[in-house]
Amino acid sequence: MSVLVFIEHREGKFHKGAFELVSYASRIANDMGTSLVALSLGDVPSDELSKAGAYGAGKVLNVNDSRLSQLDNAAWTKVIEQAVQQESATVIVMASGFTGKAIAPRLSARLRAGMVAYATAVPSSYNPFTVRKKTFSGKAFSDVVINTPVRIITLAPNAFGVHEAPVTAEVKQFTPSVTDADFTTKVESSEKFSGKVLLTEADIVVSAGRGMKGPENWGPIEELASVLGAATACSRPVADEGWRPHTEHVGQTGKVIAPNVYFAFGISGAIQHVAGISSSKVIIAVNKDPEAPIFSVADYGIVGDVQKVLPQLIQSIKEVKAQ
Ligand SMILES: Cc1cc2nc3c(=O)[nH]c(=O)nc-3n(C[C@H](O)[C@H](O)[C@H](O)COP(=O)(O)OP(=O)(O)OC[C@H]3O[C@@H](n4cnc5c(N)ncnc54)[C@H](O)[C@@H]3O)c2cc1C
Repeated sequence: MSVLVFIEHREGKFHKGAFELVSYASRIANDMGTSLVALSLGDVPSDELSKAGAYGAGKVLNVNDSRLSQLDNAAWTKVIEQAVQQESATVIVMASGFTGKAIAPRLSARLRAGMVAYATAVPSSYNPFTVRKKTFSGKAFSDVVINTPVRIITLAPNAFGVHEAPVTAEVKQFTPSVTDADFTTKVESSEKFSGKVLLTEADIVVSAGRGMKGPENWGPIEELASVLGAATACSRPVADEGWRPHTEHVGQTGKVIAPNVYFAFGISGAIQHVAGISSSKVIIAVNKDPEAPIFSVADYGIVGDVQKVLPQLIQSIKEVKAQ
């Protein structure tokens, strides 16, 4: 028996999200009195793989097969399934992002494993196996009981945090049985965003909506993000209109984020938007309409015109930073 955590890397490096997953899975393994195995696909140096040990993974499996360097739902699922079988894992943990959404349900079907998507805490009970998750676009919680012998959990971002639990990780290559026929898609090209803070891992997010009136007004949003070392985000209509890339769209149908600080400029605060940002620790909203729903979820609010508030805010932050 073991707990298996699937962790992703970017260009051979693990980031906060991966370590949070290992920390979370480590707590579960500890509670269950079993060992934790981390699995990573692609080209990752062994010293990077061994970093998972700092958060409690006693074993780290790596599959260094160039065909697996890009997400292929079918092939990745098959590889994870084989690792689960090799390690006799009874709990599988992965992130609830795009990969988790694609892989976890397939794995659930193949392993006949009950699944909780978007968990927010470690199981409150192991018998019965009960996990809390967000539901109704983040407006409520459900406690879900999984009755199958193998269970899959996808963890909401920033729900658990990164916690050190150092052990020496044994790094091993894992050679699953996959053939070219298992690869159903091929990524021909991908665009990289360089020099930008990654939205899902940012501590501060500067976001804006239709109240900005048009893409030509995004300069101060970019400037504020740059001054704060923040990522930029937007509401869905802004991305739909093509004012900003869809990679920035947050909400029920976009990215779900949980930064320490979320700025909402000219965003009404529709329930579908709030679903993606409600776990932010502090929400600061600027809207000219005092009745805008965003103010009911905001910790701090400014009733005012974004075009007037933004330059003053940037100036004040620059002055504070210069002190
Ligand atoms: C199934 C479904 C899924 C959806 N998924 C998402 C999602 O994932 N993410 C998402 O964001 N939306 C989503 N939506 C859309 C959502 O319902 C809202 O329509 C959208 O969030 C509104 O975007 P907005 O706040 O930018 O624009 P608006 O609703 O147009 O609000 C603009 C706000 O700006 C304010 N404003 C205007 N001018 C100024 C100014 N000069 N200064 C200050 N404030 C100003 C206004 O008072 C208003 O509150 C979804 C909808 C559906 C039906």
